[in-house]
Amino acid sequence: MNSATLYIYNSYSKSKEVFKAINPPFVGMYVCGPTVYNDVHLGNVRTFLTFDIVFRLLTYLGYKVRYVRNITDVGHLVDDADHGEDKIAKKARLEQLEPMEIVQKYTIGFHDVMRLMNIIPPSIEPSASGHIIEQIEMINSIIANGFAYEVNGSIYFDVLKFNEEYPYGKLSGRVLEDLLETTRDLEGQEEKRNKADFALWKKADKNHIMKWNSPWGEGFPGWHLECSAMSTKYLGKVFDIHGGGMDLKFPHHESEIAQNIGACGHAPVNYWMHSNMLNFNSKKMSKSEGNSILPMEMVSGEHPLLDKGYSPMTLRFLFLQSHYSSEIDISIKSLQDAEKGLKKIMNALSYLSKIKWKQGLIHPETVSDIIKLNTEIITHLCDDFNTAKAIADLYAMATYINTWYHQKQEVSEIPKDIFENLHKIYSEIVSDVLGLKEEKGADNNTLDAAMNLIIELRQQAREEKKWSVSDQIRDTLKAAGIIIKDSKDGQSTYEIEN
Ligand SMILES: [Zn+2]
Repeated sequence: MNSATLYIYNSYSKSKEVFKAINPPFVGMYVCGPTVYNDVHLGNVRTFLTFDIVFRLLTYLGYKVRYVRNITDVGHLVDDADHGEDKIAKKARLEQLEPMEIVQKYTIGFHDVMRLMNIIPPSIEPSASGHIIEQIEMINSIIANGFAYEVNGSIYFDVLKFNEEYPYGKLSGRVLEDLLETTRDLEGQEEKRNKADFALWKKADKNHIMKWNSPWGEGFPGWHLECSAMSTKYLGKVFDIHGGGMDLKFPHHESEIAQNIGACGHAPVNYWMHSNMLNFNSKKMSKSEGNSILPMEMVSGEHPLLDKGYSPMTLRFLFLQSHYSSEIDISIKSLQDAEKGLKKIMNALSYLSKIKWKQGLIHPETVSDIIKLNTEIITHLCDDFNTAKAIADLYAMATYINTWYHQKQEVSEIPKDIFENLHKIYSEIVSDVLGLKEEKGADNNTLDAAMNLIIELRQQAREEKKWSVSDQIRDTLKAAGIIIKDSKDGQSTYEIEN
């Protein structure tokens, strides 16, 4: 285990706390996954990237993380509360497919985007529809403890009753009196004892497709229940970290806390974490604004607001340049800057493997600066996953690496062990913790390097009058779509055929 102290901003206590695992080196982490009725949007990508970094850093520090991220495939209604059609059933009706065909289609699409972004899959990815029995059992416990009631085949959580014993609204900062005042009057609300109550189980009418038998008749679970039931099943009644997008704090996470306490009498999570939202050109990304760009559109560039496509790693880098708790404003300028920044970091990574250490004159200032960077980068990451500051450290390291590479591809001004440490830390942070990887075709540096070598070898063959070798190189490249052009002064260049 790495001895670095990890600090996490806990959205529940609203303070930065030292992370103490319940049962080290094991860590249980639950993150609310997507409702698979639509293409995953960029905001989702940011959320899952945030927790990919949490997962990667914990693993880097030596923790063994069981990471559970669910798939919501039933019970998430159109109004995000207790009314309207099920989002998946609605989409199934519109696309004239079975609900489970919708689930399959958008789950595959979601996984494709996650893979593209180099986001590591969770250890367990349970689905709501696969855990109906666990959800019914949890409702039974909540009823037995007196925090839920049945009306006409539906079960509601009794928020007022709960609030007599446990504070309701602490996570989201909602005040119950306000909720009772302001919650909209909706059809079907009359079943509830209070406006703030929420459904644990809804009775299904005869046209409802996704429904199951229960002790209260045919119905389906409320959206919030699955996460309480599945986190308990796979991580236990109390676990370390629960994450999600900021928009899930209320009502989703507030309800989760109430359900877990209602079922077993104590709070389920030690550290709550929430990632912030995305803007495009300073406006919240939304379909109605016309600035909602899908991840695949970002990569292909097929969107009127984009000048070209930006690679998945450019997007990843752009997101990591900000702390997860602050808003990000995406713009053409910020995308272009991220592209340049990423290139600097990745070039330095490839230079690093070509640089040799050599005995030489030690520069005390360089030595102390590198030692500082080597330690500081871990401290920054352990300071509530501050990837923004870690990237600033990488830039500073990359400046040294670039200089060494462009001088003689050797470093002699710092002791060998400090150089080796820099090498190790730079590579591990870039690849393992930040999850940045070399992209084929993203830039032509690699191709350039290879082609320069081939052109040089062909030049040698020509000087030695080995015409068949030189012709073979030219013809083979031509067949692969690369044209060698020989100029009069004997210099050769290459062009890629369109
Ligand atoms: Zn959830």
